[in-house]
Amino acid sequence: MMNLQAILDSIYGELQPRLGEGKVADYIPELAKVDPNQFGMAIATVDGKLYSVGEADTSFSIQSLSKVFMLTLALGKVGEGLWKRVGREPSGSSFNSIVQLEREEGIPRNPFINAGAIAVTDVVLAGHAPREAIGEFLRFVRYLADDETVTIDQKVAQSETQTGFKNIALANFMRAYRNLDHPVEHTLGVYFHQCALAMSCQQLAKAGLYLAARGSNPLTGHSVVSPKRARRINALMLTCGHYDGSGDFAYRVGLPGKSGVGGGILAVAPGLASIAVWSPGLNEVGNSQLGSAALEMLAARTGWSVFGD
Ligand code: GLN
Repeated sequence: MMNLQAILDSIYGELQPRLGEGKVADYIPELAKVDPNQFGMAIATVDGKLYSVGEADTSFSIQSLSKVFMLTLALGKVGEGLWKRVGREPSGSSFNSIVQLEREEGIPRNPFINAGAIAVTDVVLAGHAPREAIGEFLRFVRYLADDETVTIDQKVAQSETQTGFKNIALANFMRAYRNLDHPVEHTLGVYFHQCALAMSCQQLAKAGLYLAARGSNPLTGHSVVSPKRARRINALMLTCGHYDGSGDFAYRVGLPGKSGVGGGILAVAPGLASIAVWSPGLNEVGNSQLGSAALEMLAARTGWSVFGD
C-alpha cells in the first residue's frame, strides 16, 4: 500500500519554493485581497481515510467548483432534459467568453463555462425564490461534505454582484435567446452566492467523494446520484472542467477535475479517491498554477489516471 501522506508531504516540500507563483484573480475585488503564498491539499479515499498537507483546513472561495455541485442538483431535478439548455462539448474558449454564445444562439457549450453554469442555476431556481434556491444549494453541499459549518462568504458574493458585468452580459444574452427563465438579477443572485461558498480542501475532498465512489459517499452512506450519473459528471469534468486548459490538464494529470478562480481544484480518481487542492495564484487561463502542478505530481507518484495504469 503506498503512503499517501508521504506523497503529500513530498509534494508540499517541493512546491514550497514556488509559493506565490501565478496571479490571483483580481477581477473580483474581494479575491484580489487573498494572500497568494498559500497552499493546501487533501485526499479523501473511498475506504474512508483523509490525508492532508499545508493549509488544507483553511476556507477559501470555491468559485467554479460550485458548478459541479449545482450541476448534480440540476440533473437530480430535471434529468437529461437539462441538455436542452446547455451542451456537453469543450468550449476551447475562456470561461466568460461571449463570442461563442452568440454564434450558438444562446445555448452554452457546456455546464462549466460561466454561461452554462448560469443556465444550470436557472434550472435549479425554477419554482423558488432566489433565497430559497441559495438555501437549498447550501444544504446540499453541507450534506455532501457531511459538515454543517460550510457557509457563504457574503463579502465575496457582494463583491461579485457589484462587479460581475461579464456575467450580467452573458445572462442577458441568454435571456434574449429565451434560455433564461428568470430575471437576470435573480439567477445571478443565486449564481454569485453559490460561487461565494467558503470551504477548505478537507471539506471539498469529502464533498467530492460521491464522484469517486459510484455516486454514494462511503463515509456517510449518503446516496447522491446513480453510478452512471457519477461517471457522466466525471466525463464532463475531464473534458470541460478547466475551460480552454482542459486538454492540457487531461494530458498532464489524467483525472477529471474542476478548477475555480479562487485557486481551488477538485479532482476525482474514480474508485479510489477525491482530491482537493488550493493555491490562489492562477495561470493564464484562470486555473491554479501550483494546484495543477501538485495534481500532476500526485498522479505521477500514485499512478492514478483514468487512461490506464
Ligand atoms: N464567480 C466566477 C465568475 O463567474 C467564477 C469563475 C471561475 O471560477 N472560473 O466569474
